[in-house]
Amino acid sequence: MPSDTPERVEVELQQAEFHCKACSHRFELPTNCDFHYGEHVVRSEKLGELGRLHALDEPAIDEIIEIANALPSMARLSAHTRNNLIGETYIAVADVAPDGSRFASGRKPDCPKCGSRYVSELRGTYNFQTFNPIRLRYHSWNGMVSAEKVALVDYWLEHFRDGRSGTR
Ligand SMILES: [Zn+2]
Repeated sequence: MPSDTPERVEVELQQAEFHCKACSHRFELPTNCDFHYGEHVVRSEKLGELGRLHALDEPAIDEIIEIANALPSMARLSAHTRNNLIGETYIAVADVAPDGSRFASGRKPDCPKCGSRYVSELRGTYNFQTFNPIRLRYHSWNGMVSAEKVALVDYWLEHFRDGRSGTR
C-alpha cells in the first residue's frame, strides 16, 4: 500500500555510467552505493525511484541488526555474508515506495531512452549531481510488535540467502 507523501532529501550523489543492453544507450545516473559506511542509495523495485537511507540516523536499523544477529541461522555465516544479508534486509523492511514496491539495493535504473531494465553498470564516475531521493522511513516497522519484527527479519534474511546461493 503506498504510504503518504514521501519525504525527500536533497543530496549530492555520485554517478555511474550505465549501458543499456537493449538499445546500447550509455547514460549517467546515481550509482547504487552501499559502500559508504551506513549510507545507501537504492531504488524501488517497480519504477526505480531513488531512495536514500542514512542508517546511522535511523534507530530501527540498530533494532534490525540486533534481531538478525540473534537468529541461530546467522551464526554459521561469515561476517561478510552476514553484513550483506542484514544490509539487504533492513532496506527491504523499510516503508514501501510511493509506487507501492519495496526498495532494493541491487535495483539498477531503467534505460532513460528505451525504458529497458537490461542495464549494466560500467564504472563509477567522479561526477556528482544533486538529486532528491526519497528518505527511507520505518513507520510500518515501528508499528509492529516484537514477534512480528523477528518473523519479518527472519523471512527476508532467508529470502536473500536463498537468492545468493542461486547466483554463484
Ligand atoms: Zn535502452
